[in-house]
Amino acid sequence: MTTVSTAVHGYPRIGPDRELKRACEDYWAGRADADRLDAVGARLRRSVWETLRDAGVDHIPSNTFSYYDHVLDTAVLFGAVPPRFAAPADGGDGRTGREAELRHYFAMARGVPDAPPLEMTKWFDTNYHYLVPELGPDTRLHLAGGKPLSEYTQARGLGIETRPVLLGPLTFLLLAKAADGAPEGWRPLDLLDDLLAGYAELLGALSRAGARWVQLDEPILATDAGRAEPEALRRIVTRLGDLTERPRLLVSTYFGSVGRQALDILRGSRIDGVGLDLVSGPESVTELAAVSGLPGKTLAAGVVDGRNVWRTDIPAALSTLGSLLGLADELVVSTSCSLLHVPIDLAAETGLDPLLRDRLAFARQKVDEVVLLGRALSGGHDAVAGELARARAATAERTPAAFRDQRVRARLDALGPEPARRRIAAPDTGALPPLPTTTIGSFPQTDDVRRARADLRAGRIDQAEYERRMRAEIDRVIALQEDIGLDVLVHGEPERNDMVQYFAEQLDGYAVTRAGWVQSYGSRCVRPPILYGDVHRPAPMTVDWITYAQSRTGKPVKGMLTGPVTMLAWSFVRDDQPLAETARQVALALRDEIADLERAGIRHVQVDEAALRELLPLRAERRAEYLAWAVGAFRLATSGAAPSTRIHSHMCYSEFGDIVGAIEALDADVTSVEAARSRMELVDDLAAAGYARGIGPGVYDIHAPRVPSVAEIESGLRAALRAVPPERLWVNPDCGLKTRGYAEVEPALRNMVEAARRIRAEL
Ligand code: GLN
Ligand code: ZN
Repeated sequence: MTTVSTAVHGYPRIGPDRELKRACEDYWAGRADADRLDAVGARLRRSVWETLRDAGVDHIPSNTFSYYDHVLDTAVLFGAVPPRFAAPADGGDGRTGREAELRHYFAMARGVPDAPPLEMTKWFDTNYHYLVPELGPDTRLHLAGGKPLSEYTQARGLGIETRPVLLGPLTFLLLAKAADGAPEGWRPLDLLDDLLAGYAELLGALSRAGARWVQLDEPILATDAGRAEPEALRRIVTRLGDLTERPRLLVSTYFGSVGRQALDILRGSRIDGVGLDLVSGPESVTELAAVSGLPGKTLAAGVVDGRNVWRTDIPAALSTLGSLLGLADELVVSTSCSLLHVPIDLAAETGLDPLLRDRLAFARQKVDEVVLLGRALSGGHDAVAGELARARAATAERTPAAFRDQRVRARLDALGPEPARRRIAAPDTGALPPLPTTTIGSFPQTDDVRRARADLRAGRIDQAEYERRMRAEIDRVIALQEDIGLDVLVHGEPERNDMVQYFAEQLDGYAVTRAGWVQSYGSRCVRPPILYGDVHRPAPMTVDWITYAQSRTGKPVKGMLTGPVTMLAWSFVRDDQPLAETARQVALALRDEIADLERAGIRHVQVDEAALRELLPLRAERRAEYLAWAVGAFRLATSGAAPSTRIHSHMCYSEFGDIVGAIEALDADVTSVEAARSRMELVDDLAAAGYARGIGPGVYDIHAPRVPSVAEIESGLRAALRAVPPERLWVNPDCGLKTRGYAEVEPALRNMVEAARRIRAEL
């Protein structure tokens, strides 16, 4: 007989009112000391544990809290501190003890004047960012901290037994990067034995403190990189499984299936349990049956989606769970991954259409779903008949008629699958000089701009006054760009709170939340809109602002739109139809917007696909299919443009390896990218993929508050010119300027224009 219990992988850390954000920012600004910060941290942890306990969850996680990032926590825990942060014990500023410890921690996360922070990158295919550990042959990994232990004992002191969660050794090492100067061919994985000694020591300490279970998170097993290291996995589970003094170990995996090989290794080891994500990797069920289950072990079945906001289809989840009974000794009903990726509580969303609200579940509601499923499974359905019936009713009709729009569907059907017809732009009329200069769209969002938006929201000013202030801002930004001498101008995006939300607010089929905050990195949170129905554009979204800007200058002004893939990547998206279909609906709305911009006389339109690479599937075998629909959606949005219109695209990264062919296939006339690394390499990669259009490799990094010199920009441009002819080379910063201040932006752009002029003078 299989026993049944319940668990969640992790819960949002930021607090229902983003208390963590405020506490950290107060601490950084010197408005609060370490004691205050630690008190907030302790309170937030306690409230999560109590919530989970009161909801009836059996396995409550601990050590999922973090002041900044759990990967950074793990690096600090095992002494992976790059030499540039090996500061004196007092942090260099006379502080000692906890103050020094926190300074040191936040220095790695955020940088200090003479030591740049650890690099930050996306956590798998989510919109959460982690800090990349830097390891080298000289890194001495060892147990250097006690965070998991102290959080465990904090909970125990409250009478709550928890399951400490540790980032697993394989994931930690494969997510780390080799420090600069590491010898060719050296890999962080070479440090596995030292690291395992550290885990062994920690597991011993947790066991002595009373921990019965520890969860080791190994999401890397769902990727090609993780699947390629079966020997490392074998060493890990053998070494840790064989320890005599340890809690029971659950190796939990998520963001996809892990494949039979890894399952076989885990099955044959002394590890006590395995967690599988049955939402991202439903094929795990057959893989598991193929290896004859996990006899003698615990199976954590992730059936409640930790990545999206829809209610669980309870009957479907029960039938999946039912098919797993008998494949393990204990079945743990759980979330698919940590609930870190969803907002905390639907209760705060009083403004949502009830028809939509009834179909949603945020973290708090997902916890109840896990508990309900556990009770239904162990006590028989009768015990919870009422709740089950309610849950069934809520998901019976996935897409109510009110969420559908036949006009949109009919138009897409009529367009057919082939607006993929490639767009051929007319030759340039020579209106622009070689090495044309431009920016990526946003200008600094000043306090005045933010205040105007807040005033409008609060009803302190009316729409007319708001528009007057925005137009004044556009006037200023246009005049500044003319003065600086840029060639293709932008309106500066003052009216946009966020590049996705701005459009979501204007499109049918999208809803925005009041308090649906999700951590993006550190103290930064985002509020992803919810795409719940057919997307339709009731009215033009940007035309008034752009035409106003164009009316203020003789230079061309570039229209600015967010592309279909990015509109999906930074939203919660309906899961009742393939993403590809939803992307086409968004694309159609953009296609109409571009047509309206053209009619209004706009000749340049940029469609930002900042997230094109982010949605790339973790497994290579699934990428071609994704890229086909992603490119198709971009082409559907842009291929209706007249040959004389210049279509620009923008991407926020330069590591294109995997998608260089896709960039070529977008048919954009100009693509601007981040190029803080090597401009040459990037441009070469593009040329190798047959890219023969305009390219704007960002000439300076806007993420740092510094002003690049003319010489520095010039030398970057000269490097790019070795691979692209001057008429195809665009000159721009590497991303939008909205987070910067005018004090840096203005001189930086002047230097950029000057660098372009110097090179032009030689042509
Ligand atoms: N046009 C947007 C801006 O300038 C692009 C932002 C982005 O790429 N993330 O802000
Ligand atoms: Zn960008």
